[in-house]
Amino acid sequence: MNVNVNKYSRQILFWPNGQESQQLLQSKTVSIIGIGALGTALANHLVRAGIGEIRLIDRDFVEESNLQRQMLFDEKDVNSNKPKAIAANEKLSIINSEVKIIPIVNDVNNGNIESLVSGSDLILDGTDNMETRFLINDVSIKLGIPWIYAGVVHSRAMTATIIPGITPCFACLFPNVGSGHGETCDTVGVLSTAVHIIASYQATEAFKLLIEHETYRREDMVQLDIWKNDYETFPFQYSLNPDCPCCRKKQFAYLDNKTSDKLVSSLCGRDAIQITPLGNEEESLDLTYLKDKWSKIGKVEQTPFLLRLNYEDYQISLFKTGRIIIKGTTDTEIAKRLYSTLVGN
Ligand SMILES: [Zn+2]
Repeated sequence: MNVNVNKYSRQILFWPNGQESQQLLQSKTVSIIGIGALGTALANHLVRAGIGEIRLIDRDFVEESNLQRQMLFDEKDVNSNKPKAIAANEKLSIINSEVKIIPIVNDVNNGNIESLVSGSDLILDGTDNMETRFLINDVSIKLGIPWIYAGVVHSRAMTATIIPGITPCFACLFPNVGSGHGETCDTVGVLSTAVHIIASYQATEAFKLLIEHETYRREDMVQLDIWKNDYETFPFQYSLNPDCPCCRKKQFAYLDNKTSDKLVSSLCGRDAIQITPLGNEEESLDLTYLKDKWSKIGKVEQTPFLLRLNYEDYQISLFKTGRIIIKGTTDTEIAKRLYSTLVGN
């Protein structure tokens, strides 16, 4: 594998094994789940560093309130309702054309996560909810793929690197935390610098794993408050749970959770409900047909990726896979009724 020694000169000087480390990095595949504030910062670092392949997985589109901290997006992306994975791919492709970038506009759930991340050397957490993190943890332990957790809210941030069979897993670290909602960026806000400092920790640990240099790998969980100048670490040796249902007993509660044909979830703090039809990963809906139908009941916009309808007090975004985000309600029954009216069953 060729190494562009000029492009990567400053990091080749830094790497413990110079060009050999760079070659290793260029042979690796990373999946980032969630291309928001954390995900864009992570992708930016990895693509500039010359990772081999990167999968950008995100279900959402760019909104105005994202621009304060999500560094790969701009006002044009907001105005064209661009999916985050697509917008990020466009920016990253002109930053480093040597990297294979795969944008995936999809919701990550227990029906698709294994195929989305399979073949990855590492998974990076750019999500904003505990449920998806427990799901990532299940698939990490099942497939033996390390992952790096990070969470940010307000000016507080946390990160930990989870390596199957070596470190405690996420369920060991958070034994009593369910998937319920706590404070989120949508309810208490978030400082962009808190996101970026923790994404830098995550990306740095990613580099250590990807170039297979274990000497300084962290064996603790980091927690900091960048506003209040707090910094704490929690060594892993106190966190291993010998009875952990996930990493010891290999019970994958989140991955094996049986669901109906549709996944209905409220998008925390966003006054929105998402409905995801399961078992159909192909882009199959005829958006143009629905556009004609919908234009009789409200204002409709179509982009290459989604159809958007303003109907009554709701803003409805439909992706080609049949996934829909209904903004303007937190009532799942109303959302399901709208889904069957507008899309069918
Ligand atoms: Zn565990």
